Amino acid sequence: MVTQYKNLINGKMVDTGEWMDVVNPANEEVIGQVPACGEAQLDEAVAAARAAFKTWKKSTFEERQAACMAISGAIKENADELFRLLTSEQGKPHAQAKGEIFGAAGISAAQSTLQLEEEIIQDDDTRLHRHRRVPVGVVGGIVPWNFPVMMAIQKIVPALMAGCTIVLKPSPFTPLATLRIAELIADKVPAGTVNIITGEDSLGPLITGHPDIDKITFTGSTATGKKIMEGAAGDLKRITLELGGNDASIVLPDADPKKVAEQLFWSSFQNAGQVCIAAKRVYIHEDIYDELSAAIAEYAKSVVVGDGSEQGTGVGPIQNKKQYERVLELIQDAKDNGYKFLTGGDKDPSGSGYYVPITILDNPPEDARIVAEEQFGPVMPLMKFSSEDEVIERANNSDYGLAGAVWTADHDKGVEIAEQLETGTVWINEFMHLSPFAPFGGHKQSGFGAEYGKEGLKEFTYPQVITVKKDNVVA
Ligand code: NAD
Repeated sequence: MVTQYKNLINGKMVDTGEWMDVVNPANEEVIGQVPACGEAQLDEAVAAARAAFKTWKKSTFEERQAACMAISGAIKENADELFRLLTSEQGKPHAQAKGEIFGAAGISAAQSTLQLEEEIIQDDDTRLHRHRRVPVGVVGGIVPWNFPVMMAIQKIVPALMAGCTIVLKPSPFTPLATLRIAELIADKVPAGTVNIITGEDSLGPLITGHPDIDKITFTGSTATGKKIMEGAAGDLKRITLELGGNDASIVLPDADPKKVAEQLFWSSFQNAGQVCIAAKRVYIHEDIYDELSAAIAEYAKSVVVGDGSEQGTGVGPIQNKKQYERVLELIQDAKDNGYKFLTGGDKDPSGSGYYVPITILDNPPEDARIVAEEQFGPVMPLMKFSSEDEVIERANNSDYGLAGAVWTADHDKGVEIAEQLETGTVWINEFMHLSPFAPFGGHKQSGFGAEYGKEGLKEFTYPQVITVKKDNVVA
């Protein structure tokens, strides 16, 4: 029998008696089961979070910090077990899974130092005018399958630090490591402050529409983000949405192809391309296009696609069948249209596991589906450009606005271009680096609000202004 992982409600590990299978994308075998929750369990979890909020909202900074540090410690102490479990449910190679687990522990520790100081607007003989931040209440957290542990933690920790309590729903595809963490922290955080329940996608709208949840923090696709916004409108829940992206990388002619080829490769292929901030469109100046595209394709030959638990694997499988089929459909569309491939696109994957060969396209047109849509798979379209104005316009020609990168020997030039990109984050000569102290959020249809830093913490609070009219003697 496969291992059954329980939910965390009100400090206790519980189940519903009804189970959902979780599949290893590397071999399509069932590796665990989790409870299938519906309205009744959600109500129970929300009631626990509501009851806990009465006390937790009055907790001190030190108490909040201690709870978050306990979460960080539990993850770190069990990192070995957790990263293996994460690879088995998500597919990413062990080294990347380890990075996610230690990253989650690090984020918990870093964010537990954040606090929103009170602001004194006026304090004189006539008036004391204070601006403080108060917790919004019970938070509903909804998480995707590409970085399940990191995304769960980056919702739980700021919620607790703001004085909120939370009911979190992992993706039905990747709930195992999160539920193992739930078990590890069950007696380390006050009962009811953190509740983690699992269910199909249909549990999501129940959370969004629940009358006793005050805020939704969501990471996932733009399409679902729009449904969340609609669902939350009924009672004007506060929302934070971290959504999809179609990030552009721009390589200027002064970049050395030998130095950037490998870095550019990994900016697209980490986690098999299933990263919201992966480079999904790579624009290379025409002067270095041939040399750089050849260098990237050459490097790609050294990277092994396979089971993430096997040593030497660089790119794992796609996480689930639906996404696998979508990526194959985009590749097929590119083939049907006669676009040129530098690697991939030429063989049909067979056998078990959702493997897609590393796919690099040679200068497809801007309106190709594989360029214009978020691929979310091991796919990298390389495109030629000739002028800065042209490439900035092409990079910005997207409904998304999550992140982007510029690669150049001239940092000032890189910044000049970065300032013209319509995205929430831009890197010069690196990719995917996020600081727990800087706001991370999407422009346009890539998001609403931000996570991380004080800006992210604020999203779990309301402003409250209290004024004392000192010179009005009423008695
Ligand atoms: P998804 O939108 O399909 O699912 C995300 C979560 O929403 C899951 O837990 C799912 O069960 C739940 N859900 C599904 N339908 C719902 C509904 N109607 N109401 C409420 N909840 C619902 O996303 P995914 O396929 O799991 O993740 C991939 C997407 O996430 C990509 O577009 C990627 O770019 C995006 N993403 C964004 C960020 C970011 O920070 N901006 C980070 C990671 C992933």
